[in-house]
Amino acid sequence: MILMNAFTSEPSALRKAMLSAAHRVIQSGWYVLGEEGRQFEREWAERSGVNHGVGVGNGMDAIEIALRALDIGPGDEVITTPMTAFATVLAILRSGAEPVLADIDPDTGLLSQESVGRCLSARTRAVVLVHLYGQIRFPDQWCTFCDEAGIHLIEDCAQAHLARWQSRPAGSFGTVGAFSFYPTKNLGAPGDAGMLVTNDDQIAAKASRLRNYGQSVRYEHPELGLNSRLDEIQAAILIERLKWLHEFTERRQTIAERYLNEIHNPAIQHMARPVSRESHVFHLFVVKCQSRDALLGHLYSKGVQSLIHYPIPVHHQRPCQSTRLDPEGLTSSERHSETCLSIPCHPQLSDLGVERVVDAMNSFQRV
Ligand SMILES: *Cc1c(COP(=O)(O)O)cnc(C)c1O
Repeated sequence: MILMNAFTSEPSALRKAMLSAAHRVIQSGWYVLGEEGRQFEREWAERSGVNHGVGVGNGMDAIEIALRALDIGPGDEVITTPMTAFATVLAILRSGAEPVLADIDPDTGLLSQESVGRCLSARTRAVVLVHLYGQIRFPDQWCTFCDEAGIHLIEDCAQAHLARWQSRPAGSFGTVGAFSFYPTKNLGAPGDAGMLVTNDDQIAAKASRLRNYGQSVRYEHPELGLNSRLDEIQAAILIERLKWLHEFTERRQTIAERYLNEIHNPAIQHMARPVSRESHVFHLFVVKCQSRDALLGHLYSKGVQSLIHYPIPVHHQRPCQSTRLDPEGLTSSERHSETCLSIPCHPQLSDLGVERVVDAMNSFQRV
């Protein structure tokens, strides 16, 4: 079976480096908020083109802490997309703010600026822009849009490690960028981890208090925070995995280019091509198909795993049924959730594997 991820087939040099990183931390006897974490924060902030990185427990907390560090909470509205991991919206709810859901552009799956415009109100404080599937697209237009509306841009970069727009990395456009290092992400830890990145000294300082019970100096708590710290074993292993990230990203992009060029089946529709190679890091390679469930079954019968990102748009989730939506509806998101399918596109996928996926995709017949 060709799987969506294949961690155990990673290069043995990487597997060994991960083990010795864990060994290093255990030998040191320092496990939470230490030198490994600070080094990873420095390295990841630098890769993200900003001054500060604040390591946190996971990607969802990175978004919640970003909002709270900006004093966004009860009474405020934050606009985002229903076509995302539930965590994006849950983070907004946990901050105390109200999420407002705008529709996507059907060709890219990314948030539609027109729809976000219809969602603005006097209470809007921020847009959480999700670089869905690993693609950053016209972030400069989002900066202008948010500046004109007098609101913050927060980038949800959980799927977009090292994606670049005109050589500038994802995470460097908004007031804050939020990253997840969940195992399946392009840069993944063997556990939960996250980080927020920013150029703003005050936001970085507030975020590092918030992740640690709101503590300013030891045992003093001027504000109510949470417990969301990046531990040393995850950080040490992420430092090792970061050394491979560029090569792994190149491989994803090469596989995606082959899929775009070689999958030609009238029953299967490609998403819009990325504007440039650097602007899409293909966390997921997604196609659309009117008979999506039949395609999923066909692929399975050919030994190819596929998954749906995402089968239920957020506004159809039970806790979100009274969420405010674009008054014109979220029809593109609904349509997308019924037709989208993600096929294997990970760095360990061999050329032979790619050919098998292409053959399986091209041999599908519409039902
Ligand atoms: C994975 C993901 C998150 C949440 O990250 P966790 O580390 O799992 O909390 C948020 N947003 C998007 C778009 C994601 O893909």
